[in-house]
Amino acid sequence: MVTAVLVIDMIKEFVTGRLGNPRAQTIVPTVARLLEAARRDGALVVHLTDNHLPGIDPEFEIWGAHAEAGSEGTEIIPELRLEEGDHRIYKRHYSCFYATGLDALLRELGVTRIVMTGVLTNVCIQHTAADAYFRRYETVVPSDCVDALTEEEHVNSLAFMERMYGIELTTSDELIADGLTGGSSQ
Ligand code: ZN
Repeated sequence: MVTAVLVIDMIKEFVTGRLGNPRAQTIVPTVARLLEAARRDGALVVHLTDNHLPGIDPEFEIWGAHAEAGSEGTEIIPELRLEEGDHRIYKRHYSCFYATGLDALLRELGVTRIVMTGVLTNVCIQHTAADAYFRRYETVVPSDCVDALTEEEHVNSLAFMERMYGIELTTSDELIADGLTGGSSQ
């Protein structure tokens, strides 16, 4: 069984940029620690990052302009920078699976279990959880490695994903202790 840790939208725009917020900043050290353990355990690390085409992508009507392709906002924050062997996939919609090469990459690499980290719990994480469920991936969410704009949105979304998609809710400490390459059906 191969595990992939997805790092979702931990780019400048969502951490310190126009859509940045302190809650996204608080998970940075926790995610960094999890990625370190993932690489040590031989799990894959895949960054999924917003990269919008202005005038075409629908999200600007809701969120305002953000993460335009080629802009500084699309850069991965330095604390979580890509390392050799990591993958990066650009996305233009909430779900990391929608119109991206993620599903093909995961299947080619034999991944059956994904661990989701990043922001926002109730937007890109939740939409990705739905698509992972339809594609039969085992999905794990360490609650201290994801966050939303408010505590209420974060907590409600975690409960929704557990109820609707059967995600495994855990913490980074538990995942690191258990090892990142295994899983419940190992
Ligand atoms: Zn976006």
